[in-house]
Amino acid sequence: MPAKIISGSEISRQIRKEIKQGVALLQQQHGMVPGLVTILVGENPASVSYVTAKQLAAHELGFYSVQDNFPETISEEKLLQRIAQYNSDPKIHGILVQLPLPRHIDEKKVVNAIDPDKDVDGFHPVNLGRLMIGGEAVKFLPCTPAGIQQLILRSGYPIEGAEVVIVGRSTIVGKPLATILLQKAPGANATVTVVHTATRDLAAHCRRADILIVAAGVPGLIQPAWIKPGACVIDVGVNRVGEKISEKTGKKIAILKGDVDFEAAKEVAGAITPVPGGVGPMTITMLMANTLKAAQCSVQRY
Ligand code: NAP
Repeated sequence: MPAKIISGSEISRQIRKEIKQGVALLQQQHGMVPGLVTILVGENPASVSYVTAKQLAAHELGFYSVQDNFPETISEEKLLQRIAQYNSDPKIHGILVQLPLPRHIDEKKVVNAIDPDKDVDGFHPVNLGRLMIGGEAVKFLPCTPAGIQQLILRSGYPIEGAEVVIVGRSTIVGKPLATILLQKAPGANATVTVVHTATRDLAAHCRRADILIVAAGVPGLIQPAWIKPGACVIDVGVNRVGEKISEKTGKKIAILKGDVDFEAAKEVAGAITPVPGGVGPMTITMLMANTLKAAQCSVQRY
């Protein structure tokens, strides 16, 4: 039987409905609206489109949102000054600096300059440390891993006790995701294996997985024979493999492929995410969920 297709767009819509309810409640009880600033340096087309999508989502959810654009030539000092201003702005609860930044700016310094209580991307060392400690300490989960956890849970796959194999150990996906799924907490508590380029027998590890999550950035890396029949497969990879003309707009658009051979894999897996339309829509939605949480926490602080 072909796999169930896990729609990130559909699950994202459900979560956005919940966020809207949270926004309405916050406004009703505290007269407060979640505020998000997205900071863009330069005009990298991919970054412009990510930031535009984040602003659209913030607008749609009724947030107070600010788009702050800087030229490619802005100095590190000026950018840090602006972040300091947003850190002390009570209308702003979430600060997102779109990465990558130009080479003359130290990305680590910029991420570290964001107030950890406004770090809605979840990449500040304080928030990554809180995640490592677990339990009550956890504040913001990095958005892509948090979205992946929700995709699995909301499509009915129990994570507790499952054999989870994650392909890739980056700081934005693989490592935080492994830590999230390892927590002794509801919606987690899995047995997690993380594999990478030095792993000896990648296929053997993948074949053991009840839940296989692939974030390698290698198109079609995972072959159907590596998938346990009935497994839940989450394909994080977004690989630009060419261009085509969009039927909707008539404009050139990228042809995107995941890290899993989707057509063949869906004959073996129990459930699978498509690319696009799987993990992608969840990342922005979880950024909005983090911004709402930041606003809710600020009520408790003041
Ligand atoms: P990354 O920083 O390049 O890390 C890739 C990881 O995969 C590394 O740990 C690497 O191992 C491992 N890897 C690469 N080739 C492998 C192979 N042949 N066998 C085993 N492991 C292999 O990438 P990333 O930032 O995590 O992103 C991964 C993919 O997810 C990309 O396609 C990216 O575009 C996509 N992505 C999508 C979203 C979304 O919202 N949809 C968000 C983030 C990323 P080593 O550590 O040994 O080098």
